[in-house]
Amino acid sequence: MKHLIDPTDLTKKEIDEIVALAEDIIAHRERYQGSMAHKKLATLFYEPSTRTRLSFTAAMMELGGQVLGFSNPQNSSAAKGETVQDTVRVVGCFADIIAMRHPIEGAPLVASEVSSVPIINAGDGSHSHPTQTLTDLLTIKRELGRIDDITIGFCGDLRFGRTVHSLIKALSRYHGIKVVLIAPDELRLPDYIKQDVCEKMGVAYRETDSLDEAIPELDVLYMTRVQKERFLDEDEFDRVKDSFVLDARRMALAKEKMAVLHPLPRVNEILTEVDEDPRAAYFRQVENGKLVRMALIISLMEWKDDLHCTNAKCICNNEKHEPRFRLAENGITRCWYCDSKVR
Ligand code: ASP
Repeated sequence: MKHLIDPTDLTKKEIDEIVALAEDIIAHRERYQGSMAHKKLATLFYEPSTRTRLSFTAAMMELGGQVLGFSNPQNSSAAKGETVQDTVRVVGCFADIIAMRHPIEGAPLVASEVSSVPIINAGDGSHSHPTQTLTDLLTIKRELGRIDDITIGFCGDLRFGRTVHSLIKALSRYHGIKVVLIAPDELRLPDYIKQDVCEKMGVAYRETDSLDEAIPELDVLYMTRVQKERFLDEDEFDRVKDSFVLDARRMALAKEKMAVLHPLPRVNEILTEVDEDPRAAYFRQVENGKLVRMALIISLMEWKDDLHCTNAKCICNNEKHEPRFRLAENGITRCWYCDSKVR
């Protein structure tokens, strides 16, 4: 069984397969209509969401499956003090797959340690948002025809923006990626991503505080909202909230083929005058989110039964323990208990 907690839980090959499956769904929707019949997705959302929760719901419905869950933890046993692990143990008795959003970083990972069904991280604090990353990759592929060899500018809140962190991690596996980090000092990308991802994986990056200076070289401009809910200090938020705004004047400086992405919701960082520009891809990106989640649900449900440890001497093949796996070096999946290769 495989969970999706961080984009690096998927190999590049698996990501490309999910993107390709989403493209096949676009071309042949009717073929996939009943593929999740009699299956149930639970959406456990401990934090507000419109797009992510509804797109998971719409994705499962289009596949012929059903959806249960909560969108407000006050209506769940979390309000009585139940732990995340206990909640997923319970929900695993009702659902075949779980999508979880949580304001506490690491909550979906902890859930996956005890879950009997695949867990999808639908966003944990300012840490990670792997299904938005799959959405972004499908959007880049559809807008530009490729994911390799692009210069991508991330603009705005790079400190708290989990979608930025996840997308940089995933892009670091592709060829010829150049990253331009466009942010004020207070909202710069955390050092651990610069060092552990960009430097380690050989991704060329540079930092600037001028969108005007950066925009002409970009193939993709990834705009973000300044995330008020992550700030501890309101004055700091007020100082940076209007920092970087995309308008028609700035779009005139950009390449003819540049794609503007935004995970949404936007507040004021993209003026509505940009919406009619053919390069504004952010509403098409929303539709891609549903399609790629359809592809992800199908893939995780297939992998659920697929993986097994091949070591006859492993504890999971000798006692009744749920097979568990981890993605190890070079994209090899290994048994959690004995480190043997699987699949
Ligand atoms: N929708 C995105 C997220 O859940 C971006 C945002 O909220 O600003 O992280």
